[in-house]
Amino acid sequence: MFESLVDKLAREYDIIGTKQEGWFVVRINPFPSPEELPLVVSDIEHVRVVGVSGQEVLHWEHCQFEHDLPELIAQVLPALKSRTYTLAVYPYETSEQFLRKQPVIISLDPEISYRKYPDHPHLNVPFTDTKTGFHMPASFCYTDNPDLLGDDNYSRVKSSLQQATLWLLRHEVWLETRKRVAKGVWIGPNAELLPSWAYPGIIDTEGKCHCGSGNLYKLCHYERDLKEREELLFKDSPEQMHSIKYLKDDPHLFWCKVTNIPSRKSLDWLRS
Ligand SMILES: [Zn+2]
Repeated sequence: MFESLVDKLAREYDIIGTKQEGWFVVRINPFPSPEELPLVVSDIEHVRVVGVSGQEVLHWEHCQFEHDLPELIAQVLPALKSRTYTLAVYPYETSEQFLRKQPVIISLDPEISYRKYPDHPHLNVPFTDTKTGFHMPASFCYTDNPDLLGDDNYSRVKSSLQQATLWLLRHEVWLETRKRVAKGVWIGPNAELLPSWAYPGIIDTEGKCHCGSGNLYKLCHYERDLKEREELLFKDSPEQMHSIKYLKDDPHLFWCKVTNIPSRKSLDWLRS
């Protein structure tokens, strides 16, 4: 069943391999032609229809709109360079409680993680898949409503790849704007951001803070986030206080053990 799904997708997508346990690896270059780029970005920003083929985001041929852009976005577009991403995709219904059965999509190369981008606005938090025991590294947060992806597995995975292609183009714009303004600008509709108390343990205290200040997390928002987390978790479940203790004693070690090392092992396995 997994093989037939991959065979079917391979007619449209550049699938370069499969792994055990239902993962496949695919290459996607989301970039439209330089002529279409400003049109497509404007349409994404204004939440209008854009096309997505197996290879790229396309400008919709019947689009009649004016293609205005916020000044900052217009400034950074010429700096964008076409680039191919290698993604790992886990199409099966997994970890309902975390991702509500959406296909999981992870960028292997270039890596997109909280380790690399502590301030990333659209990444799902790493977690352990209770069904397989696999540690999921940070994945694309590409939909608010996984129920709309489709009814059968093929259409669900195909829509998720289309959403991921759009997500990558938005990510590229975000990267360029981030060079100019703190935290960058995410084009199009925004999902809810992670609450600040969620960051301890997900990002490294020895790395940059999620607020975009450029300061080390341990010297910036860490204490505040941890205090908020402590107050929240203490209220809900005293047994959670266990993790607070480790975060207080040695937050960098906690992050290494809980997030970084298992994430890196999963990524290495997926890359191999
Ligand atoms: Zn900060």
